[in-house]
Amino acid sequence: MPAYFKPQGSIRKAPHSPSRDRTRQRIKFSDERVCKSHLLNCCPHDILSGTRMDLGECLKVHDLALRADYEIASKQQDFFFELDAMDHLKSFIADCDRRTDIAKKRLADTQEEISAEVAAKAERVHELNEEIGKLLAKAEQLGAEGNVEESQKVMDEVEKTRICKREAEEIYRSSMPASSFQQQKLRVCEVCSAYLGLHDNDRRLADHFGGKLHLGFIEIREKLDELKVYIFSFFYCTEMLCIVT
Ligand SMILES: [Zn+2]
Ligand SMILES: [Zn+2]
Repeated sequence: MPAYFKPQGSIRKAPHSPSRDRTRQRIKFSDERVCKSHLLNCCPHDILSGTRMDLGECLKVHDLALRADYEIASKQQDFFFELDAMDHLKSFIADCDRRTDIAKKRLADTQEEISAEVAAKAERVHELNEEIGKLLAKAEQLGAEGNVEESQKVMDEVEKTRICKREAEEIYRSSMPASSFQQQKLRVCEVCSAYLGLHDNDRRLADHFGGKLHLGFIEIREKLDELKVYIFSFFYCTEMLCIVT
């Protein structure tokens, strides 16, 4: 669903405004003004639309009719738009990873310094938190699909993970004074660069790990990996053919 609002709340033009329709009549999918990531269904502007990190409208043209044209034409011919899309996603993910590094540094500056040993204990609690959040999101999805039995199995796993988390929390808590324990409460999500609370409750964790923003970033990262594999195998095969023939 396209979002018509910028993060600031100002109204933005609908993607199918008349000017866009005129552009569509003029240009082909191969035109440089067309977003190749959109043709390949992986533009971050689409994937993150409606999330907290909504990027607004893409600078290049998005048009489902052009995508349909491309899908038909690409059955007959290689256009190598995967290269454009890979460059686009690579720089997008690099930006995100840079934000993660900055956020981590900011946390390191503001949160009291702890020893590597204590940090490892905190890390364990975070990992289990993450697992609980992911499992809860999965159980909810299975439940919504009517798969009650599978959902219950996942909930049993959640229960086991909660017990592990309580133990890990106890170990961590006892390794530092209470005041420091309260301070060490934030972490940066390596996938989407959002802040996560160490003491967040399960509901919040499930909302994060099952939420559109976090899942959108997983999707973008997976698409980028797919594109890399595709391009690598394509050029590797071509090179092998050159050597053989
Ligand atoms: Zn785009
Ligand atoms: Zn995340």
